[in-house]
Amino acid sequence: MKPLLINGEWVTTSHGVENINPSDTSDVENTYAQAGIAETEAAIAAAIQAAPAWGLSGPQQRHDILHAAGCEILARKQELGMLLAREEGKILPEAIGEVNRAGQTLLFFAGEALRQQGDILASVRPGIGVEVTREPVGVVGIIAPWNFPIAIPAWKIAPALCFGNTVVFKPAELVPGCAWALVDILHRAGVPPGVLNLVTGPGPVVGQTMLDHPGVDAITFTGSQTTGERVAAASLPHLRKIQLEMGGKNPLVVLDDADLDVAVHAALDGAFFSTGQRCTASSRLIVTEGIHDRFVAALAEQVSALRVGNALDERSQIGPVVDAKQLQQDLDYIHVARQQGGVLRAGGERVQRQTDGFYLQPALITETHSDMRINREEVFGPVASVIRVADYDAALAAANDSVFGLSAGICTSSLKYASDFKRKSQAGMVMVNLPMAGVDYHVPFGGRKGSSYGSREQGRYAAEFYTTVKTAYTAP
Ligand code: NAD
Repeated sequence: MKPLLINGEWVTTSHGVENINPSDTSDVENTYAQAGIAETEAAIAAAIQAAPAWGLSGPQQRHDILHAAGCEILARKQELGMLLAREEGKILPEAIGEVNRAGQTLLFFAGEALRQQGDILASVRPGIGVEVTREPVGVVGIIAPWNFPIAIPAWKIAPALCFGNTVVFKPAELVPGCAWALVDILHRAGVPPGVLNLVTGPGPVVGQTMLDHPGVDAITFTGSQTTGERVAAASLPHLRKIQLEMGGKNPLVVLDDADLDVAVHAALDGAFFSTGQRCTASSRLIVTEGIHDRFVAALAEQVSALRVGNALDERSQIGPVVDAKQLQQDLDYIHVARQQGGVLRAGGERVQRQTDGFYLQPALITETHSDMRINREEVFGPVASVIRVADYDAALAAANDSVFGLSAGICTSSLKYASDFKRKSQAGMVMVNLPMAGVDYHVPFGGRKGSSYGSREQGRYAAEFYTTVKTAYTAP
């Protein structure tokens, strides 16, 4: 059984949970110790105790740890990619790509550790000096989802450590393997005892204990909107800093003047790759009248031809859905969309493969409207719906007609429409003539409206969440 990490010690528990491969449910990757309230409180206590010394540690030490860990991740990306594909179901090339990104993120924040700066200003009162500096927030609770098992933990843990915070990390129940590997790598890279603690276990126990604890100074959360709202409500009495990254119902607009191949590729990749289990997935395809039929015909043909299979089989283009519950949710939404008048143009059925897994042929649903449930609620699977609109103005209105605002895309050859969309889209991230899921690791990531709350993750902007600003005045 793989243990928890508390105060620099590997700790086993009486209860463990198996990590099941969604491509082959007879394959158990490993068993992981489950923290309860006592272990979680011990991890928080360790993080509190370690915070003052780590907060004053020098940038060289933080750089060296993050650099060594980043290099190890990159050197082991094939093996860690296999682990990721096996526990989450992403096809191997995508899994290796995600591991690569985690390594790059650690290296980026290794550099950031050496680039921390403040401001020195003249006071409005003569003779007085003013310094503005950034200090660590303290103990950061990290609650992560299952769909990016190593990249998301990396882009939360790396800045937390870089800026001198201590961490209590709770990965999602379905993906303890990558979380364990990442923490093991950082631990061996020299993170001092108590600075990074791993508590695998159920959200309502481990996560809730973190939310209820007054010693957790900040919580960064990625997951569903429902849980995000719970994190916000539980954090208010503690007046703690929070950062929430939640769901999406992201629009991809395709205009009459779009390059058809570019648009079909953007939709295929953005909606279905990684089994559509991406918060940035383009699940609403908003298409103007003049290109609609050609676009739908070309996309439907390619969706039907997508090879769904075992994540470790190199012929697979789409891996399985992550588990039985998510598969049922996907099938339920396809059913509801059809009941409300949508037409299933491609896929949408469960398929069998040699191994027993949660395989679903990606679904393309046409003839949908903005007010249908399929266009209002996040499915979080390989399911995309097409909304037919008259023109650009109607497309923009439909794109913004959502409680979510994570990412949005447009395919057009018109600079005028591309520029207007970049300005008027109510999303945190906008893509022009690109699949909506590919984002860089050195620039801010996040959304608006119901998708995000708090300051941005990643890049230099991460400093906003992981530090607190101090203004000091000195008289001669
Ligand atoms: P989830 O909300 O079910 O779980 C997220 C995390 O919260 C897990 O670690 C879970 O154990 C924990 N949790 C559950 N109950 C809790 C409680 N009572 N207290 C504290 N923690 C608790 O989400 P999920 O199914 O793991 O992930 C899918 C969701 O994540 C989708 O909505 C997706 O859009 C979103 N997501 C968003 C982004 C983004 O950056 N915006 C990125 C990836 C995924």
